[in-house]
Amino acid sequence: MLLAASAAVGAILGALFGAPWWGVGLALALFLARQLRYLAALRAWAEQPKQVELPEPGGVWGEVFSALLDLQRRNRKRKKRLAATLAQFQSSAQAMPDGVLILGELGEIAWFNTVAQSLLGLRGRQDLGQRVGNLLRHPDFAAYWDRHEFDGSVEIPSPSDRRGMLSLRIIPYGDNQRLLLVRDISELHRLERVRRDFVANASHELRTPLTVLRGYLEMMAPDATDGGVLSEWKTPIAEMQSQASRMEALLRDLLKLARLESPGEGPAPEVLDVAKLLQQVVADARGLSAARHDFDLQADPDLLLSGRQTEVESIFSNLVGNAVQYTPTGGSIRVRWSRTAEGGASFEVQDTGIGIPADEIPRLTERFYRVDEGRSRASGGTGLGLSIVRHALERLEGQLKIQSTPGQGSSFRCEFPARRVASRPSNTATA
Ligand code: ADP
Repeated sequence: MLLAASAAVGAILGALFGAPWWGVGLALALFLARQLRYLAALRAWAEQPKQVELPEPGGVWGEVFSALLDLQRRNRKRKKRLAATLAQFQSSAQAMPDGVLILGELGEIAWFNTVAQSLLGLRGRQDLGQRVGNLLRHPDFAAYWDRHEFDGSVEIPSPSDRRGMLSLRIIPYGDNQRLLLVRDISELHRLERVRRDFVANASHELRTPLTVLRGYLEMMAPDATDGGVLSEWKTPIAEMQSQASRMEALLRDLLKLARLESPGEGPAPEVLDVAKLLQQVVADARGLSAARHDFDLQADPDLLLSGRQTEVESIFSNLVGNAVQYTPTGGSIRVRWSRTAEGGASFEVQDTGIGIPADEIPRLTERFYRVDEGRSRASGGTGLGLSIVRHALERLEGQLKIQSTPGQGSSFRCEFPARRVASRPSNTATA
């Protein structure tokens, strides 16, 4: 429109001077010069929007420029809002009592707060972009990172304080981003060690006087039973002997628990022939049952488990022993060792015993927790068996699943992950 109007005006003015085409040419040249001026202004603004101001012509250019200025204003506002949100996030993360790090897909550090800096001994800006695995070189953290299942946390010694202990937890979010939370658990760890050492030392110290008492009781027992001078003491001496045995069993279980709770203690894990181990465990249980129960053992002979023998044995013998203990005469006990659908392994003991009420099940693995106090004591139970099972299972990365119906029986099932399980090489299976 504007172009046609300019050409027409040019033609009329040119006609006044007798040269209409020159008039049209001149008008078009002026029109083009105007367009180029605005185009140049637009280019200069696009290159340096902060320094250059756009002119304010009318018409189409005016509309284009005001639309662009509007867009710029909106963008600035959004940027400000984002910056405010980011500042708010950073100041709240900064105020957290725990260390926080933002990590990229490969573990490269994008941001961290000052607590994380002091807990992990980071050097400030220099460590941005570094992979967290290069700074935290503990094998437990490497295994946790590689597992890609971040539902739990991992505890490692502090890299900046020789006696400190840190708990690390990864929380995945967004597009392969990760948040690493670092908590200082040194004090908790120290108290836990003090408690553990106290129980272990007390149990150890109590053993010696108890051995002396038992020795004297053993010396006195024959005289009491054979009608000697101590014959009146027959019942009290027998009772003292049985109580001394209970105390010994308690001390033995407490020491076992203390050992299980000490991280990294004990011999190195080995690959265990579970089927063979179970034959022994079931043979012992038959002895305990004295033909009161029917046993059925089915164990996959090629399915091996990596762990410490004493720990695996204590899981098996506690669970099978409990089945014997809490199943009345004539009941049956089924023991299974088999592969799971996920490639792991499962150990299951099923009995037709007295069962456990559903609301008691979650508390069974607590220390000294008994469903029926009198019955457990009478059967010589310490109340520590299932705690030992739970701790030993934790060391083996296993999980305990309990199902039970009062009056019908119970099933105790231990599930081990695939990384703990091995298959017997085929040449030895036939040997
Ligand atoms: P205890 O030494 O008393 O057997 P445990 O820790 O082994 O201690 O077991 C805790 C409690 O769980 C027991 O006192 C018993 O009440 C219950 N319990 C364990 N196993 C069974 C089972 N197979 N059937 C019924 N109750 C059981």
